[in-house]
Amino acid sequence: MDLLQKKIQSDGKVFAGNILKVDSFLNHQIDVDFMDQLGKEIARRFLSAQVTKVLTIEASGIAVAYPVARELHCPMVFAKKSKTKNLGSSVYSAPVESFTHDCIYDIKVAKEYLSADDVVLIVDDFLANGNAVRGLVAIVKQAGAALAGVGIAVEKGFQNGGKELRREGIRVESMAIIEEMDALGGEITFRDESSADY
Ligand code: 5GP
Repeated sequence: MDLLQKKIQSDGKVFAGNILKVDSFLNHQIDVDFMDQLGKEIARRFLSAQVTKVLTIEASGIAVAYPVARELHCPMVFAKKSKTKNLGSSVYSAPVESFTHDCIYDIKVAKEYLSADDVVLIVDDFLANGNAVRGLVAIVKQAGAALAGVGIAVEKGFQNGGKELRREGIRVESMAIIEEMDALGGEITFRDESSADY
């Protein structure tokens, strides 16, 4: 999706530790019109999958997942990261190693919102080592639901998450795949979509 590449080139900032900041449109301030376009494109790719739930993780995943769910006319469920007592004990839960915060946290989804009847599309803002997506896949499995695939805004192709998930047969659709980024010069190179790994 060219539009996202352009947005990353113009507004993205590369930080040490392989972190790309896109706070101006995705991770802090949200460009709602742009998110609608991005959501439409992710939804378009999974239109024939008969998705019944879109599943993401709070907080940044919500802005991407919401327009996808609206387009697919199904509910969007977000896994909670925070230790909340409101969820009760009837939850699916999986540990996730955080790429940005360097810690392990449990994600939780109340059992009443995912069941074996569901066909789930996982959506997130970034795919790096794949831990967040793996946590969500674990929750889909606990629910006995079917997995339609994974829709991602920005995949960092130089980390292995996407490659490993695809190797396991999971359909991963990323709207932009970064091949390389350089914290010193700020340069960002995107993967040619025809490349074999895509
Ligand atoms: P993974 O679990 O695939 O290693 O990392 C994905 C999660 O970490 C995403 O949910 C995202 O919030 C965060 N993340 C990973 N890399 C980046 C990055 O370069 N920039 C931002 N803003 N978030 C990232």
